[in-house]
Amino acid sequence: MEKNSTVFVAGHRGLVGSSIIRKLREKGYNNLICQTRQELDLLNQAAVNRFFAENRIDFVFLAAAKVGGILANATHQTEFLYQNITIATNVIQACADHNVKKLLNLGSSCIYPKLAPQPIQEESLLTGPLEPTNEGYAIAKIAALKLCEMHNRYHGRCFISAMPTNLYGPGDNFHPELSHVIPGMMRRFHQAKTKNLSEVTVWGSGKPLREFLHVDDLADALILLMETYNNPSHINVGTGKDCSIAELAETMKSVVGFTGRITFDTSKPDGTPRKLLDITKILKLGWSPKHSLQSGLDQTYRWAVENNQF
Ligand code: GDP
Repeated sequence: MEKNSTVFVAGHRGLVGSSIIRKLREKGYNNLICQTRQELDLLNQAAVNRFFAENRIDFVFLAAAKVGGILANATHQTEFLYQNITIATNVIQACADHNVKKLLNLGSSCIYPKLAPQPIQEESLLTGPLEPTNEGYAIAKIAALKLCEMHNRYHGRCFISAMPTNLYGPGDNFHPELSHVIPGMMRRFHQAKTKNLSEVTVWGSGKPLREFLHVDDLADALILLMETYNNPSHINVGTGKDCSIAELAETMKSVVGFTGRITFDTSKPDGTPRKLLDITKILKLGWSPKHSLQSGLDQTYRWAVENNQF
């Protein structure tokens, strides 16, 4: 990837896409193309083809997706499957038809079986049943990574896929119900602090284990992969460390400065019991995460307050 290569970041307003843009600019890439949803509807195959025909695009980061936390996924499975599979097939096929030099497709750690051995190796894919709360999303992400893998293996395309663990950071969605655990919890603790409430309720039992990666660490990994990695097999990106949701809640309590009690609402789903990625492969490429959970949460909380997210 040259500094003046034409780079299209699909999904540049999202958590991942906005971080990729920040990092590419920092590193001196000066020919970035972005399209808002109004300018280019990625669900519209004809529009996507027209866009690729009219713009000579060298590199594509496919970070556009319909995303959400456990409740959003579980209650809108059909939309998560349909929209994600459609966005992916439209963009991936257009990259093939218009001779894009390299495509990096973004997946998710939920592609792996619910009860995969931990830490989860890339080879665990399709070895067992999926976690039901995000089956629609996972199936779409599996189809997209297989499409990239097949273009790469059978047609010599540089189409690669990265599978990040649970992400957080500036630019996240802080919706009270539809968000992922970190922004959802951060909002609840912040509101409890500002309203002087005596307790905060955390969804589920608090027992599930999750691994959390700061989105800027992911963006560094993605740019490294774009610059150096060309294996058809997908690659995990995580921290190699996990914590329970109850431990996350304790850390969040101190980050936000809430002094009351934490209670658990077991009527809400726990989801998969554990989701820790094996990151041996990406560590060998020379990348490692820079943010600790504490420092990443501190920085994200400051960003959220300064940007009126609550
Ligand atoms: P998942 O990794 O796909 O399950 O996605 P989430 O980030 O939505 O949820 C992770 C875990 O955090 C689940 O066990 C949830 O029950 C739990 N959790 C606790 N509080 C919250 C919250 O406020 N929002 C969300 N989304 N999850 C929460």
